[in-house]
Amino acid sequence: ATPLNRALGLIREVTDFPEPGVLFRDLTPLLADGAAFRAVIDALAAAVPPDVDAVVALEARGFLFGAALAASHGLGVVPIRKPGKLPAVADQVTFDLEYGSATFELPADTLHPGRRVLVVDDVLATGGTLAAAAGLVRRAGAEVAGAVVVLELAALGGRARAGVPVEALAVL
Ligand code: 5GP
Repeated sequence: ATPLNRALGLIREVTDFPEPGVLFRDLTPLLADGAAFRAVIDALAAAVPPDVDAVVALEARGFLFGAALAASHGLGVVPIRKPGKLPAVADQVTFDLEYGSATFELPADTLHPGRRVLVVDDVLATGGTLAAAAGLVRRAGAEVAGAVVVLELAALGGRARAGVPVEALAVL
């Protein structure tokens, strides 16, 4: 197996998390393995579109991949966070999840017209999370070049809902 395939093979399935009936893909074994984490960051780096100047990383697992990718590429990183965490907020959006809803906040004085960003998260499921993040970026006047995720769960149709070009290292 290539280092990337070995890394993706470390993703663990957890039944009934966070609720009964849900099969959760757990990336923590991949993160905990140095060679695997490096292989994944290298593969994400190969998918960075041209002329991107920042990574937008989504709380919480998107922070791990997004920050490592940004540092490896010399890009800035902008954390989009859950409510109540940021001391200065530029904008917020509330969106639907598979179960319930969530709110994201964009930090003040980070994105502005002329910036071109790549959105990074661990998993694409229904696409609502990526769509909400892209909306915040665009409302700040910045451009979304695309999104990268480690894993796409294709049966949920998230690619269409995301509203941005998505690259996934693995599709299930
Ligand atoms: P969506 O908005 O596309 O339905 O859900 C994607 C968001 O939920 C991502 O931020 C992702 O972290 C989380 N998510 C949904 N399903 C899974 C899963 O099976 N494993 C992991 N690690 N995250 C998931």
